[in-house]
Amino acid sequence: MRLRLAHLYPDVMNVYGDRGNVIALRHRCEARGIALDVRGPGIGDAFDPAECDLLVIGGGEDREQRRVAPDLAAKGPAIRAAIEAGLPALAVCGGFQLFGERYVDADGGVLPGIGLFRMETRHPGAGAARATGNVLVRTEFGEAVGFENHGGRTWLAQGQAPFGAVAVGRGNNGADGTEGARTANAIGTYLHGSLLPRNPAVADFLLGAALRRRYGAGAGLAPLDDAAERAARAEAGAIARRGKGEGAWRRLRGLAAGGWRRGD
Ligand code: GLN
Repeated sequence: MRLRLAHLYPDVMNVYGDRGNVIALRHRCEARGIALDVRGPGIGDAFDPAECDLLVIGGGEDREQRRVAPDLAAKGPAIRAAIEAGLPALAVCGGFQLFGERYVDADGGVLPGIGLFRMETRHPGAGAARATGNVLVRTEFGEAVGFENHGGRTWLAQGQAPFGAVAVGRGNNGADGTEGARTANAIGTYLHGSLLPRNPAVADFLLGAALRRRYGAGAGLAPLDDAAERAARAEAGAIARRGKGEGAWRRLRGLAAGGWRRGD
């Protein structure tokens, strides 16, 4: 079996090692004898989402988002249609924001998103507190661990499913307890880390959906020995829980400095 992965803008949208998500997907394919062809469509490259089984986009700061936004707007309708028809996808942080309806950046500039997730993100400005730190999110795939670092606050429209509920950290906006977004087989999230190496259930959800879509409902993933992944996940979870006190302290300082409030 063979899967085709499109890693969008790999040279531009890659902070905090988001490329590790692709490495984890490759590892989990190869360990099962599944070939993974990775393509990295960049700005100006032709791209037909019908020719891929899985799509990944990483994070980037406002500057990188401004660079890719016009090209993504052109590719957006085809990407959105493919995902709505079941193409599995992972969008992280800056990429996640651009998979929503719009991102209002730190300078007040409006970057159009592809509108897959019904949500809007607003950055209150360069002086505003950032959400930075370890995160634990309760999801349908179990507890997901990761690291967030973003200034934008994301607000989901009514009815838009989140990726999960924040147990530790800020998540979408620091106020409503939601983290990320879920639509069809797509996951949007603020979690770097990278996400997939330490959250193999999420990686296997994406791979399983890709495999079934390409090879039929009977195609399944053989279980892997995930001892190393489980240990890394437990360690990251313990660090996040230990840091909770520190997070509360930082939050207080942030509030004192006029930090995160609903509607910021
Ligand atoms: N520029 C966005 C923000 O700060 C995304 C940051 C990121 O991808 N790390 O909200």
